[in-house]
Amino acid sequence: MPEIAVNLHMHTRYSDGSGSHQDIADAALEAGLDAVIVTDHNLLVLEHEGYYAKGDQKVLLLVGEEIHDQERVPQKNHLLVFGVDQELAGEAKNPQQLINKVQKAGGLSFLAHPVDPAAPLFNQSDYSWENWDISGYTGIELWNGFSEFKTRLNSKIEAVFCAYLPKHIARGPIPETLNIWDSLTAEGQKVVAIGGSDAHAMPASLGPFKRTLFPYLFHFKGINTHLIIPSPLTGNLTPDKKTILEALDQGHAFVGYDLPHPTRGFQFKGSGGHGSAIMGDEISLKDGVTLQITLPLKAECVLIKDGQPVKTWMDREICSYTATQPGVYRVEVYLPYKGLRRGWIFSNPIYIRH
Ligand SMILES: [Zn+2]
Ligand SMILES: [Zn+2]
Repeated sequence: MPEIAVNLHMHTRYSDGSGSHQDIADAALEAGLDAVIVTDHNLLVLEHEGYYAKGDQKVLLLVGEEIHDQERVPQKNHLLVFGVDQELAGEAKNPQQLINKVQKAGGLSFLAHPVDPAAPLFNQSDYSWENWDISGYTGIELWNGFSEFKTRLNSKIEAVFCAYLPKHIARGPIPETLNIWDSLTAEGQKVVAIGGSDAHAMPASLGPFKRTLFPYLFHFKGINTHLIIPSPLTGNLTPDKKTILEALDQGHAFVGYDLPHPTRGFQFKGSGGHGSAIMGDEISLKDGVTLQITLPLKAECVLIKDGQPVKTWMDREICSYTATQPGVYRVEVYLPYKGLRRGWIFSNPIYIRH
């Protein structure tokens, strides 16, 4: 099945980003992405949706929205909304009501940066998700590039180091977010994980140091959401948008950190007496399910069941495991990069049911 690389969750100058939709499309073309999803704060700017081309290369730019209650103090509960063609920001006061409206409008909703630390040295508040008594959302943003950056802002020296050497920042999703995800799926619900860049490309200054903090291109070569789709994109907005939204809805996806090495080609499949499954699917255990993992490069691969590692393979490209117990099975892959062991791939689960 074809795979596409999508960067999602980013801001333009319509909200608090610095670039235009065209700037984003240009950077996405340069990064070799298949699609991007722009999500300005409380603003749906649909007219920029469509294919952008350069030479024989094309990228699909879709428009979603990041909705939160701007009157709430502090401003928690940011919701990424995709596939809705009406403005729903007016519903932000009540997160459950907003999620219900998104569902009713045929859209998808993801809890943005569920765990987001404050960085008081830089006047950055904590924008974590707070209202957990909710249901009906599609999933969570497992790895948010900006939240992770905020975890490194404990000193001004470290901040300058990160601003000048941004390739040293990303190490993986915040562990608490991974724990939350595992406990949500343990309750029996499907929760789709996506990776977001939260790109703003903002000019920043700290004393004499001035630079654009993480240009769009930097983000687009970093944390991407890879989707497995039934057939290649057609080059037309309407059917391709539907294909992308369906893959996101079903969780046919993994989060790949493409900077150390491209993650294209990663596969996680299950097969058993009752058919087969890819990431995001449910499959019946029956007499056992064979899980197969294919990596684009030899690396450290960890199979996780219900939040606990069940098997680790070192320096391997192909790994297989026979599951004899029902559970939520997912894969984490680690790679050494810039002197550290870094999270490289986080798959959506295969849900093995009784
Ligand atoms: Zn946000
Ligand atoms: Zn954002």
